[in-house]
Amino acid sequence: MQLPKMYAGRILSIDLTNGKSEILDTADYAELFLGGRGIAAKLYWDQVPSSAGALEPENRLIFSLGPMAGLPAIGASRWGIFAKSPFPKREHFCYGSLGGYFGAELKSAGYDGLVVHGRAEKPSVLAIEGDAVSVKPAEGLWGKSTVETLAALKRANPGIRALAIGPAGENLVPYATVFADGDSSCSGGMGAVMGSKNLKAVTVKGGRFRLLPADPEALRSIENEIRGYGRGNVKAWGIDFMAHGEKTKKLPCYGCMAKCLRVSYTADNGTSGKFMCQSRFFYMQHAWGYYGTDTDVPFLANRLCDEYGLDTWETQAVIEWLLRCHAEGIISEEESGLPLSKVGSLEFIEDLVRGISRKEGFGAVLAAGADRASEEYGRESRALFRHNDPYDPRYCTNNILLLPFEKREPIQQLHEAGLVLAQWSSRIKGVEGAHISTEVLRGIAEKFWGGEKAADLTTFEGKALAAKSIQDRQIAKECLGLCDWMYPLIDNPKSPDHLGDPSVESRILSAASGKEYREEDLYRAGERVFNLQRAVLLREGHRALLDDVLPEEYHTQALETHVADPECIVPGPGGSVVSMIGVRIDMERYVRLREEYYGLRGWDVKTGLQSAEALAALGLSGEAAELLALGLAVPRARRMPLLRRSALQRGFRRDQRVFLRERDGSAVPG
Ligand code: SF4
Repeated sequence: MQLPKMYAGRILSIDLTNGKSEILDTADYAELFLGGRGIAAKLYWDQVPSSAGALEPENRLIFSLGPMAGLPAIGASRWGIFAKSPFPKREHFCYGSLGGYFGAELKSAGYDGLVVHGRAEKPSVLAIEGDAVSVKPAEGLWGKSTVETLAALKRANPGIRALAIGPAGENLVPYATVFADGDSSCSGGMGAVMGSKNLKAVTVKGGRFRLLPADPEALRSIENEIRGYGRGNVKAWGIDFMAHGEKTKKLPCYGCMAKCLRVSYTADNGTSGKFMCQSRFFYMQHAWGYYGTDTDVPFLANRLCDEYGLDTWETQAVIEWLLRCHAEGIISEEESGLPLSKVGSLEFIEDLVRGISRKEGFGAVLAAGADRASEEYGRESRALFRHNDPYDPRYCTNNILLLPFEKREPIQQLHEAGLVLAQWSSRIKGVEGAHISTEVLRGIAEKFWGGEKAADLTTFEGKALAAKSIQDRQIAKECLGLCDWMYPLIDNPKSPDHLGDPSVESRILSAASGKEYREEDLYRAGERVFNLQRAVLLREGHRALLDDVLPEEYHTQALETHVADPECIVPGPGGSVVSMIGVRIDMERYVRLREEYYGLRGWDVKTGLQSAEALAALGLSGEAAELLALGLAVPRARRMPLLRRSALQRGFRRDQRVFLRERDGSAVPG
């Protein structure tokens, strides 16, 4: 393949055991897998044996950039870290996504990606400056926080970009993060994998490669088009994910024009750092409960996690489980050594984060994560574990099939329908500027999710096709390194019909590369990478059917409320507004929905295994042959009988049904 000029053309691979490096040719991967998540999945398939342990030297830590990393303005410099992860339970392929500056700098240094394997004998720093690659001792850095480490490295070598792990990664806490320049943090257990390689930090200095788009004029015109959308009314999401006020200022990723909710916050004690999205709400309610007013404590709690290199999402789950156990008398202050009666205080969160990160005392139990700790701690505590998903599939039914096929919260996929639903709900409740009406939502379902049926969230009809459409589009986006805040352009607040444009991503790629890509080319690439990931997971022990399931509580426990909308209203049949409170997902109907989904994917509907025929059509013949030899694929897939398909009507059991009707833009009990 003639590689478009937007690629640097090289992927650096380094063995930390002996310090030797080699160059892989990006052209061997780019045509089928584009970049980012796609190239990473292929490298993983080729290089990580299924027998490798997540914390063993054979595991690979893969840093993978989108092909347009380094392109200013367009939000194309997102990137990811991929590896076999120790989190949350069984070891498996996983990933985390980052913004900031490191990805663009690695590209500027002349690389499309970096593969790290082996294990350094002593704590080390990997330094990359063009062709000069060295593994140096991490003198005096082991034990330091991420922020201190980056500052020390930059003092010693001004002009570099860097990433590091904190004490949590060093101590192999399964939900340890990697923290990168520009305050970007990566979850998915990647910090623990980096720690297992004795790799404290990676530094990079660019200047060797400059991305020149093939058609800068066309790109500028698309940029203006995106600016014209004027998206970003975060108030219409139901929850304001953006920190406001004089303590905040914008903190954009490399060259981005979006003016999104990425801000830095400066506390009264002078500590400053990124504060946005989910992490903005971390510890917030507890701090409110303890101090009774707005304080800097939620930000400081969030910053503490960044410094120790700990995932706030999982730390929140640990806190909630711990407090339930405390309330039920299962875990005491004395036993835990934590000031549980002072939850919400700075003192509590400092003790907790330090204890987990260093695996000290009870922190060693909590370091396993809420799910595992609740299992290890006995039956009573297990009953108090909750998944607590803000994109609960009992509420947003387009999300039902997004969860069973990923080993972590697939946040970008969940956002697609979840944020549209949140904006629709705001419109029903009369929030100013909320523009997604029931009619607009129907248009979105037609244009993005395979048909109008995906706009009625009270049935399972159309939900299998919606899930497939969302997965293929979002994974293609992650291959391109395009930002989740900006893409896909689903809705348009300023146009008369308020509908967005699904062709923007392919037009950007065409303008940057000089090669013509159609919208369907990207979906096909997304489908290929999704299937490759399925092959990876099956090869390393994921069981089709048995593991293609939702957490049990979604089938057994009725929906009580939702963080963004306590009434849990959704669009129902014929323009009705329906509350999903009381809903559970009926297992039998879930199984039928999953069969329909297997069929749409070209997988065998009876076993959930991929067919060699469909894999070969996606360009994955080698993978198909290996899966067949392992008994993990079928030569040809069996399809679902037509009659069964029409039986996919309602998908829920309800303990209670509350109907609401739309009247004058507000919701009233009907
Ligand atoms: S939109 Fe925000 S999060 Fe996305 S790349 Fe731009 S600055 Fe970063």
